[in-house]
Amino acid sequence: MLDMNRIRVDAAGLREAVKARGLDFPVERLLETDRVRRELQTRVEAARKSRNECSDAAGNCLRKGLKNEAEFYKEKGRLLNQEVTELELKLSAANAEYSGVLLLAPNLVSPDTPPGTSDVNNVPLRSCGEVPEMAEWTKDHLELGKLHSMIDAAGGVKIAGSRGYILRGEGAMLHRAVQQMAMDFLTGRGFEPVEVPVAVKEHAMMQAGFFPQGRDQTYSVNDGEFHLAGTAEVPLVAYLSGEILDVTHPVKLAAASACFRSEAGSAGRDVRGLYRVHQFAKVEQVVVCKDDITTAEALLNEITGNAEQILQMLELPYRVVAVCAGDMGHKAYKQYDIETWMPSRQAYGETHSSSLLLDYQARRANIRFRDGEGRPRYCYTLNNTAVATPRILIPLLEHHQKEDGSICIPQALQPYMHGRKELKPEA
Ligand code: AMP
Repeated sequence: MLDMNRIRVDAAGLREAVKARGLDFPVERLLETDRVRRELQTRVEAARKSRNECSDAAGNCLRKGLKNEAEFYKEKGRLLNQEVTELELKLSAANAEYSGVLLLAPNLVSPDTPPGTSDVNNVPLRSCGEVPEMAEWTKDHLELGKLHSMIDAAGGVKIAGSRGYILRGEGAMLHRAVQQMAMDFLTGRGFEPVEVPVAVKEHAMMQAGFFPQGRDQTYSVNDGEFHLAGTAEVPLVAYLSGEILDVTHPVKLAAASACFRSEAGSAGRDVRGLYRVHQFAKVEQVVVCKDDITTAEALLNEITGNAEQILQMLELPYRVVAVCAGDMGHKAYKQYDIETWMPSRQAYGETHSSSLLLDYQARRANIRFRDGEGRPRYCYTLNNTAVATPRILIPLLEHHQKEDGSICIPQALQPYMHGRKELKPEA
């Protein structure tokens, strides 16, 4: 949620952000609904004051025995009371309209965000690791999964429909191994591990900024009593809602969770393999700090660096891109994606998304800290993937395969795979 005090003095900034994102969000309507509710608020307060003055005047007159004058003020007070009630109703409707529009407003856009409205406008910043030539014997992850009896796509579809999958044996082990390796890495970097519910209430989705915009991406259960979170960012942020935090040192939380996405609007896209599925697992980093842009930018680099470090531990080639305004999530002020090289796609594919949200999310969730004078202020929040699986299994299997179909296990992952250095295809 935006800071309306800021938007009132710099509506142009919001207009620019909306244009840069290629959205048709009604900035003028937001300003108008804000003006109307503020005007009504002033009128309600003035009417309440007059009503109270009449009530005092009636009391004074009665004490002095001035019955007629007291009746006059009582009648006037009764009319003013009616006016207050009517104005309060109008104010509550105006507030609801204003809040409805404000909740849909996207975040501002950082000045160094690249322009453009599609991922082709994202700007590569750096890359790490050699992109290998594709040998003619290279297999894709589904072929490798079959060879090792690790991935059963048909079995998943049998029980869960399209985009279903089953990971078995070493496939299931790898899926768990990358998550635990990422959790241990983050714990070593000062993140507190947290276990969170993923079936959450409506208010949690609102607070984290996933509703109302992302409703079509979300599975809801029990007639909407619960919503299945698409990321642990939702429960982690909602968990901190309403709190006044000590952010002398930024709050750093990490959670591994099941993530659910309807992938509405992605019909026909990435239907083969493990790239785009309805249920996956993700280790998420969530960071909360004071409202200082220099601190927040440094933390954005830190959480992006954590994900890069994990990819280096997995010995996978990747690149970091600055995401353009139109390709960023509506909550992000600034976003980097990390794309890992996927041999079967002969392309980099997005595996991580690192975002700085400023106070956009903290305002919705009411997450604050006290400044030097003891005044509560909204925090800044950030988040990034540490690892998301099974998508990461695509480069992991494909990049580390050998001609005979064996798969080398990166050294850092070996302790999480019972010391296995290599996986041999089934005889
Ligand atoms: P996001 O939370 O949308 O920024 O996504 C973070 C990461 O989660 C992505 O970079 C992917 O690695 C993974 N991911 C997101 N959506 C899916 C999906 N439908 N299927 C598999 N992995 C996904």
